[in-house]
Amino acid sequence: MRKVLSGGNAPQGHWVGDGFPVRSLFSHMGGANENTPFLMLDYAGPEEFQPTTRPRGVGVHPHKGFETVTIVYQGEVEHGDSTGRGGVIREGDVQWMTAAKGILHKEFHSDDFTRKGGMLEMVQLWVNLPAADKSAEAGYQAITDADIPSVDLAEGAGRVRVIAGSFGGKAGPARTFTAMEVWDTRLKAGKTVHFAPEEGHNVIVVVLDGKVTLNGSHRLEGAAQARLSRDGGGFTVEAETDAKLLILAGAPIDEPVAAYGPFVMNTEAEIRQAITDFNSGCFGQL
Ligand code: MN
Repeated sequence: MRKVLSGGNAPQGHWVGDGFPVRSLFSHMGGANENTPFLMLDYAGPEEFQPTTRPRGVGVHPHKGFETVTIVYQGEVEHGDSTGRGGVIREGDVQWMTAAKGILHKEFHSDDFTRKGGMLEMVQLWVNLPAADKSAEAGYQAITDADIPSVDLAEGAGRVRVIAGSFGGKAGPARTFTAMEVWDTRLKAGKTVHFAPEEGHNVIVVVLDGKVTLNGSHRLEGAAQARLSRDGGGFTVEAETDAKLLILAGAPIDEPVAAYGPFVMNTEAEIRQAITDFNSGCFGQL
């Protein structure tokens, strides 16, 4: 079995703009790259918003050198970017945005959600790109709920929605630059399930809600995460309560990481160049 190497609960939350009360389950920003290719995971909500007229969120800002993956569980988020594209990400939808050589975008609650109010719950995951792909064209994949195959687990133990990679013979719709699995997982109380991501992949088990035990010994209560060894076969998750998990596994990108806010490059010189490029309008217009 894979070893549980580290893990813990989410620290105190903070707000991203005025729309997203997040807890960072893990982050590269302290200098660590142990979860490679995954950089950061922010869990927003669940939080109830009262109806209002002005959409809450984050105004125009840049990203460069990686991808942002937005998974909406409740509520609606509207996106617009400098490639001229935009859209509303609804419950069950996933937006896989490739910032790569540089993008400007804005992220707000949708007009409809703003007017009606309600529960907002979403994840934003940052996925690194290899040096060779950091200058790829910017773009995004709008993946709807209906595009994502769902695999029922044996004995009514729950189900896995396959966002990326494959599970139970079904392939997820996300196109990725490096090999990875992103599994939106629900488990039923009392059930134990064995998972076997690709050997050699870093594995991060994110418990958004519920109480589970990994490998019969490592207890997690959401919101929490644990990092597992790259090798050793599979691992088990025993659900004490109904649980909502995001299982992440990916081929490590063993390259240096230089990060500054919304830029993730390989060297400090590249970060300085990214800031210069952004300030001189190279990321386009929005
Ligand atoms: Mn952003």
